[in-house]
Amino acid sequence: MIIGGGPAGHSAATYGARLGAEIVLIERDVFGGAAHLWDCIPSKAMIATGGALSFLARSKGMGLEEVSPHIDLGNLGERLAGIEAKLTNTTTKVLASQQVRLIDGIGSIVDEHTVRAVTDEGEEDIFADYIVLCTGSRPRIPEWAPVDGDRILTTRDAYPPKELPSHIVVVGSGVTGVEFVHMFRSFGSEVTLLVSRQQVLPGKDAEVAYALEEDFLRRGVNLMKGARATGLERTDEGVRVYSEDGRVADGSHALLAIGSIPNSELLALENVGIATDGGYINVDHHCRSSVPHIYAAGDLSGRLPLSSVASMQGRKIAEHAMGMHDLPHRHLDYDKAASAIFTEPEIADVGLAEADAFAEGRKIRVTKVPFSVSAKALINDDPRGFVKMVSDPATGVILGGSIVGRHAAELISILALAVNAGLTVNDIVESLFVHPTLSEVLAEAAE
Ligand SMILES: Cc1cc2nc3c(=O)[nH]c(=O)nc-3n(C[C@H](O)[C@H](O)[C@H](O)COP(=O)(O)OP(=O)(O)OC[C@H]3O[C@@H](n4cnc5c(N)ncnc54)[C@H](O)[C@@H]3O)c2cc1C
Repeated sequence: MIIGGGPAGHSAATYGARLGAEIVLIERDVFGGAAHLWDCIPSKAMIATGGALSFLARSKGMGLEEVSPHIDLGNLGERLAGIEAKLTNTTTKVLASQQVRLIDGIGSIVDEHTVRAVTDEGEEDIFADYIVLCTGSRPRIPEWAPVDGDRILTTRDAYPPKELPSHIVVVGSGVTGVEFVHMFRSFGSEVTLLVSRQQVLPGKDAEVAYALEEDFLRRGVNLMKGARATGLERTDEGVRVYSEDGRVADGSHALLAIGSIPNSELLALENVGIATDGGYINVDHHCRSSVPHIYAAGDLSGRLPLSSVASMQGRKIAEHAMGMHDLPHRHLDYDKAASAIFTEPEIADVGLAEADAFAEGRKIRVTKVPFSVSAKALINDDPRGFVKMVSDPATGVILGGSIVGRHAAELISILALAVNAGLTVNDIVESLFVHPTLSEVLAEAAE
């Protein structure tokens, strides 16, 4: 029994079915989850539209006549709905073709081996050898923020917003916040970003965060650093956000991007006494909860909140439940998960960060090569950013890296493969990459 049909639940179902398990999957919204409806997919689709706008705005640099295209929210709304419908259709068909029983309803736990599905038709209690909980998370809304979905938005109200904000105040400068700053700026909105500390993307490599800040400033984003939001209200003209230190930020709209909370309250976890921390389910390295036979995956497990991690956890759970944990397959190593931020330039990293290595007193070699040396970057008329590679000076084993620049989210996969497979800088140098491509910059960094 799987509750929640996002990336974690979908993957646990698919792999479980492939390994011969009989699977029932309960989902209250769409099979594909919040990832399809509100998170990864619509946000990246809107960012791609913004990318098309900024690409066209640079048409002169590509030897074209200058053009100044504008956003069409109606068209954009249709585009997002079309992508979501296609993905949900595919996901549902794949699950059905694997004989996964799909239930449209709300799931909860009755006892260690029973799940209740509440649907429009009524209630059904279903016995299960194993239960997998992957109900995801939703945006956190503090009590001082009167979200109305109109002027005061969470990310879920923004696909697309009812009107294009003339000036949007984004609260929160983590990954989600900066992606929305980039998105709205590329649509032509004025943007103010409240940064609670002195650096956007707290916890990221300072050089990488600085590259993004520099780009935001160049594009006219107003950065309010050291501004911790404590209040938010509607005004005659729009909205006003209050910072702890007395500053205010006025705009036509505000968007909250200050983290998420787990969807665990409907699960009746108390019926089996599952251990939680702030609503997130505590799991071990096999994603097992404190109760035998009950696993948790995805955002609900409180680990890295990434779709890719959720899918991998789902797969590992299927393998474990089907008795494959004695086989020599690797456990999920969260430290080796690649991640990306879809801003312009894109930012991506994997493995050991330079700052963490120094903090641990670990000897590393860091090489950095700017994209401006790349022929392909010049051909693309976009020489921004760099590749930074972290390796072991004694063995040459690649330990991590960061990429800032166009297609960083794609290019990082080369480093992710290297980090996960234990490849050395020589392995990269000896690989014959295509010329001219941006990936040649990785070879240069390795060399
Ligand atoms: C704006 C935004 C952009 C993001 N972009 C990216 C990105 O580009 N790349 C990336 O890797 N990650 C991204 N993420 C994170 C990613 O979306 C999540 O990590 C991922 O969706 C987690 O998958 P999941 O399976 O845990 O949960 P979800 O995708 O949240 O799915 C959980 C499902 O469970 C269902 N559910 C909940 N309770 C019940 C119940 N009681 N009964 C039945 N069903 C229930 C929900 O309806 C939902 O469909 C983004 C997040 C946000 C907020």
